[in-house]
Amino acid sequence: MKTMTCSQLGGPCDLAHRGESADDVINAQDQHLKEMERAGDAAHQPARDDMKGRWRHPKKSLSWYREMKQTFADLPES
Ligand SMILES: [Zn+2]
Repeated sequence: MKTMTCSQLGGPCDLAHRGESADDVINAQDQHLKEMERAGDAAHQPARDDMKGRWRHPKKSLSWYREMKQTFADLPES
């Protein structure tokens, strides 16, 4: 298991997501951003909008995915 924070994934807070793969933490971040949007948290709105845009334009977002996968791969196991 590895840990990536909301801020490492482009968000504004230090909430930690744990997962076995980059996809796990990206999905956890997506859920977190959806919850923050529902809660009306303005600080998370830009990150939420970016994430929505990524689902809409997956090809344009490949570089972001590669970067997140690389960041995840470079993290120590914890
Ligand atoms: Zn957050």
